[in-house]
Amino acid sequence: MKKRTNKLFYDESPTGESVRPWVESFLGDLFIRWSDTDPNKGYLTCPSERLTPKLHTEKTGPKDTAIFVGGRYPVITCFHQSCRCVIDQANESLREGIKAMPGFKPKPLTAEEKARRIKLQGLDREKERLTKHRDWIFQNYKWPVAEIKADSAVIKDPWLEYLHLWEPSDVIWSGERFHSSKPKHREHFKTARQWAEIGAPQYPLVSSSAFEPDCYERSKDKIIARRFLPVECDELDADPAKNKDMSGTILRWLIEEKKWRLACVVDSGGKSIHGHFYIDSIDTDWAEKCLPALGVDPGPLRAAQPVRAPSFIRDNGREQELIWKQ
Ligand SMILES: [Zn+2]
Repeated sequence: MKKRTNKLFYDESPTGESVRPWVESFLGDLFIRWSDTDPNKGYLTCPSERLTPKLHTEKTGPKDTAIFVGGRYPVITCFHQSCRCVIDQANESLREGIKAMPGFKPKPLTAEEKARRIKLQGLDREKERLTKHRDWIFQNYKWPVAEIKADSAVIKDPWLEYLHLWEPSDVIWSGERFHSSKPKHREHFKTARQWAEIGAPQYPLVSSSAFEPDCYERSKDKIIARRFLPVECDELDADPAKNKDMSGTILRWLIEEKKWRLACVVDSGGKSIHGHFYIDSIDTDWAEKCLPALGVDPGPLRAAQPVRAPSFIRDNGREQELIWKQ
């Protein structure tokens, strides 16, 4: 019989099974339910639910919070953005907990992992530089909403023109946030061509990635191709109009200094505008690491996160207006 040791990741391959008992005892109160199909994945209660008042601002579903144990360290993710700082802390304590186990030695880094670590360290430094230059950027790259609109090509049929930015055969998800994960949700996945035939947006949200055919789950592993990176800022200013104008600054800076190609800009009908950039003009590692330093929401930068569907009319009566296109 194989002797059980604490060197979980060194002598053994880092499969989920070997670390699962430790994770379960470490996160005892969070009720982990391991997936039947993926040994490295489980669902659990969000660690933020330990707190009062609760941090989730929207309804919490049973699969909103997941844990992945296939990598170097276990990682928790949560679909809600409002609990991000608690999730970061929980992941930090998981890493520290594993490192503190007697006899633990980390698995040696592969050449690829080493290169990635060096890249991420470089991005950390760039993030710091950006934080320092933030005010200067806001002074020098202004692009207020009125100018964005004036700079746009003429828009006649916003929904159709938005769909034309996609490949006609791309499978796009559109729905309410919870229209995902059951077979009945297949109707929310249609090709750009099929959505165009319907003629008007049916739902408030849309994906920014293309999914595999016959899909009913809006999840990362069902994505065939990312198409756009939505850049959105919710908290640059408490005044929605100012917040939108300042968001325009970020878009202009990305176009001019990072040479990103802007596909369109959508006014959320609430407090923000969303710049959709073509993904092939972007280093997504840079985006995920550095953009939050400029006040960009990290949520929409993730591949499976939905965004506001252009030209849909919100419950508040305002249009999610397509305000710029090339
Ligand atoms: Zn959460």
